[in-house]
Amino acid sequence: MPERRFCEQCRREVPCQVAERPGIFRVFGREPVRLQVRICVCSECGAHLYDAVLDDANFRRAYNIYRHRHQIPFPSRIRALRRRLGLTPEGFARLLGCDAAAVRRYETGAVPPPEHATKLRRLAGTVPPSS
Ligand SMILES: [Zn+2]
Repeated sequence: MPERRFCEQCRREVPCQVAERPGIFRVFGREPVRLQVRICVCSECGAHLYDAVLDDANFRRAYNIYRHRHQIPFPSRIRALRRRLGLTPEGFARLLGCDAAAVRRYETGAVPPPEHATKLRRLAGTVPPSS
């Protein structure tokens, strides 16, 4: 994170720092996930200064809380599961009832919506992790 950035309130370049605040993310636009978010603030007036890296990290942490809450397999487990079944993303997609692009997204960090999450959870419960 750069140490200085432009503050709209102060109308000039200011030193900035990381602060923690309680935040709420709404996963799939409805379910609230509460967590301490890390944000960049102006050292002089305390205004929130957007930071893409921190924002992305907050989203990933919120998604992980949501995954734990609903026992949704994590991306690496989804990929391992598909490989253990000997399926391509296309074949796995047919099993889940989605398209291959969605499988690739789930394997790289996207949270599956409830209908796919249910099927993934069921599969993960029947296929043991690779030894
Ligand atoms: Zn400021």
